[in-house]
Amino acid sequence: MTIETIDTLVVGAGQAGVAMSEHLTKLDVPHIVLERDRIAEKWRTGRWDSLVMNGPAWHDRFPNLDFDGDPDEFPNKDQVADYFESYAKKFNAPIRTGVEVHNVERNNDRPGFTVETSKGVIEAQRVIAATGPFQEGVIPPIAPNSHSRKQMHSAEYYNPEQLPEGAVMVIGAGSSGVQIADELQRSGRKVYLSIGSHNRPPRSYRGRDFVWWLGVLGLWDLEATQPGTEHVTIAVSGAYGGHSIDFRKLAQKGMTLLGLTKAFDNHKVTFESDLAENIAFGDNNYTELLDAADAYIERNKLDLPEEPEARKVLPDPDCLTNPVLELDLDKAGVTSIIWATGYKVDFSWLNVNAFDDKNQPRHQRGVSIEPGVYFLGLPWLSRRGSSFIWGVWHDAKHIADHIAIQRSYLDYHYDATQRKT
Ligand SMILES: Cc1cc2nc3c(=O)[nH]c(=O)nc-3n(C[C@H](O)[C@H](O)[C@H](O)COP(=O)(O)OP(=O)(O)OC[C@H]3O[C@@H](n4cnc5c(N)ncnc54)[C@H](O)[C@@H]3O)c2cc1C
Repeated sequence: MTIETIDTLVVGAGQAGVAMSEHLTKLDVPHIVLERDRIAEKWRTGRWDSLVMNGPAWHDRFPNLDFDGDPDEFPNKDQVADYFESYAKKFNAPIRTGVEVHNVERNNDRPGFTVETSKGVIEAQRVIAATGPFQEGVIPPIAPNSHSRKQMHSAEYYNPEQLPEGAVMVIGAGSSGVQIADELQRSGRKVYLSIGSHNRPPRSYRGRDFVWWLGVLGLWDLEATQPGTEHVTIAVSGAYGGHSIDFRKLAQKGMTLLGLTKAFDNHKVTFESDLAENIAFGDNNYTELLDAADAYIERNKLDLPEEPEARKVLPDPDCLTNPVLELDLDKAGVTSIIWATGYKVDFSWLNVNAFDDKNQPRHQRGVSIEPGVYFLGLPWLSRRGSSFIWGVWHDAKHIADHIAIQRSYLDYHYDATQRKT
């Protein structure tokens, strides 16, 4: 049996795999990309129906292709998937869809890796894991083990019609949780939203979207200082044309805000008394960005319109001043719980020595401690923007450069006959 061989094998054809393939193509690195579903499948079927991008089209894209349409709008999830499909076609990316990678192991007696896939075995000198930052929804162990209410992770939520009649509790208020809670409230549901610590940038300020401010202020390029402590969820939304998340406004419209969810006991659920603190943390983050933007405008004498109304704060709603610490779900009519509590990665297919004792990838800017193995697309891989569309493109460039340099070392031959004595 002949085994197919390739220099570099990329696993996954989301935005990370497509970006990786572009950079490898530019550097003439022979490679293939294996994708178990379709290109950008997560954008196609792994997100709720009404999802639009959190950043405007001019920003959340790769440098070499614009989105069709208004650059200041927020493309919907299908437009994003189409964008990556067209992008891959543009340079004829060698992507094979419908092929799952089951196992990767380092060869014992020769360089490279043996890769078992759903369509046979491949030998590769290098393997790049581009299998996504948000693979499996995480539901914390406090979740009640009961079937009396419908429970799902935000990754399984598509639209309000999916849920039984009644009130909904959404746990987690990052961009997924708060957008889902808002959609459910707009659909006429009573919503309870449990809020932890979060960043809450203004959607725009003084004529510039927050993605612009984070860019010019160097905040997208922030590096993780302490691995494991870097993730603070961002409450932001491009929905309904884009707006700042304002928890007080959501409460004014009838949403009950709650602190961190502590425990479930039959039909009762308890909450930490940290709601005011968490809201204040987000408010502080919001104001800090306005202050930094004002200072930037002043220092550079930019002609951007003043926007004092951005600093106006609505009165605190009752649920903030008199926080609910215990809720009887039956009495409140809560029939569903949505856990918008984040994701984890799954590298069970990657059986190489590239992980720490907590099974987390060990790498520097994606170059792992196992020579020949690379990670791409992980949150904070090199900087804050690493798991976002524009950020992954730059990380992919770094990895492709690293591979080209390694290949040039291996191409080097010492020719003693050419040496002068
Ligand atoms: C709700 C939500 C909204 C987001 N909105 C934005 C936004 O507005 N702007 C932005 O920049 N970012 C956004 N992100 C973040 C990020 O851009 C997306 O998560 C994006 O899908 C990550 O791309 P990726 O290529 O790294 O991973 P994925 O899109 O997850 O792609 C990985 C691919 O690998 C494949 N795969 C996995 N395992 C295997 C295997 N063993 N064999 C073969 N194939 C495999 C999967 O099928 C998948 O297609 C959002 C994330 C979420 C969850």
